[in-house]
Amino acid sequence: MRLSKTFAKSTKNVPSDEKAKNAQLLIKAGYVHKEMAGVYSYLPLGLRVLNNIANIVREEMNSIDGQEILMPALQIKERYTTTGRWDDRIVDDWFKTKLVNGTELGLGFSHEENLVPLMRKYISSYRDLPILAYQIQTKFRNELRSKSGLMRGREFLMKDMYSFAISQEEHEVIYTRVKEAYLKVFSRLGLASETYITTASGGSFSKYSHEFQTLSQAGEDTIYIDRDKKVAINKEVFTDDVIAGLGLKRERLEQVRAIEVGNIFSLGTKFTEPFGLKVNNRAGETQTLIMGCYGIGISRVLGTIVEFYSDDKGIVWPKSIAPARIILVRVGDNSKVIKVADKLYESIMSKGIEIIYDDRDVRPGEKFSDADLLGIPSRVIVSDKTVESGLFEFKDRTSTESQQISESALMAKLFDK
Ligand code: ATP
Ligand code: MG
Repeated sequence: MRLSKTFAKSTKNVPSDEKAKNAQLLIKAGYVHKEMAGVYSYLPLGLRVLNNIANIVREEMNSIDGQEILMPALQIKERYTTTGRWDDRIVDDWFKTKLVNGTELGLGFSHEENLVPLMRKYISSYRDLPILAYQIQTKFRNELRSKSGLMRGREFLMKDMYSFAISQEEHEVIYTRVKEAYLKVFSRLGLASETYITTASGGSFSKYSHEFQTLSQAGEDTIYIDRDKKVAINKEVFTDDVIAGLGLKRERLEQVRAIEVGNIFSLGTKFTEPFGLKVNNRAGETQTLIMGCYGIGISRVLGTIVEFYSDDKGIVWPKSIAPARIILVRVGDNSKVIKVADKLYESIMSKGIEIIYDDRDVRPGEKFSDADLLGIPSRVIVSDKTVESGLFEFKDRTSTESQQISESALMAKLFDK
């Protein structure tokens, strides 16, 4: 991608009402555009990062036999009166709308009421089970406050997965598999060291749920962590019973702020019962299916990564999700420099490596500060000086020293994970 041709430029204009560091940096770098509180547009490079995160989640869900689907945002009211969730006193963050003929509809905040009736059509025997189905889709929630940038959207991207099992035992096996897949996801996203499996409230059907909480001052949640055992308890269930149940000691727990990047939930028969999703088990007895739900906030993860991976110069993307592996900065515009830089650009692209080419007609200082702001893992400079030496000037985003290297040494670095 040539920066001279991208419409989304870096900017110093950040809306004055945008207080969250993640959104401020993403707007400055030209990754997102703020439409209103909690609603953002993703620009070309921002969309790349969002897709990279979604693809990591997708790969890990597929690896545990998750089947990807896409359900509608528009929701049928009667489904929710069946489960009691149409009532604004039960679900306080609905966006509702109407058809021209007056029929009421909702905009989906979660999709149990969609998927359970759908599954009734397809699941007819215990032999069909277990099933894991998921989607990566835009959710709508009328959040009271939306001040954390991408981390609390009113319209945001979520991966929501649902499991269906014939028995509690079968459910628990899936639940554990999903938990392990989530650890892989957060490890690939570069958040492993800061992300804690956290015991949290379970709602009406199971006593507890598990949240994946990433430590951050910008977080909206308060949790208690045991750093050695790498587990945590959400403030909402922080009792002597829970502490003892997890084999922890109150005096070893530290109170910290954290961001809930994902959660996994046992739903029991809360949704399968009202929709009558039941089949015979092996012994011929009719069983209402046991369900679980598993969320990851894709856009919240993006915000979280920016909160965590940034410095005073800008963003510092982990390689796994960076919008490009390298940024090529051309300094000077004489024909020799242009020729060498263009050739290097073509050659890196031809290897299938994502590259951003700063071929703009702006001062070198602006190019360097934009390269830092954009947070691309590595930078290579082509200038009069490098052309003369026949080498390139290479630097990682996180290091202060640059080095002179040959094209083949550069290529070797780019294939390093
Ligand atoms: P919170 O307590 O932060 O409101 P929640 O319990 O409402 O979260 P879920 O309904 O379980 O969240 O949604 C699954 C995941 O979606 C969450 O773990 C989180 O990562 C993400 N998420 C929830 N609400 C938002 C939001 N408003 N903006 C962005 N991501 C969100
Ligand atoms: Mg919520």
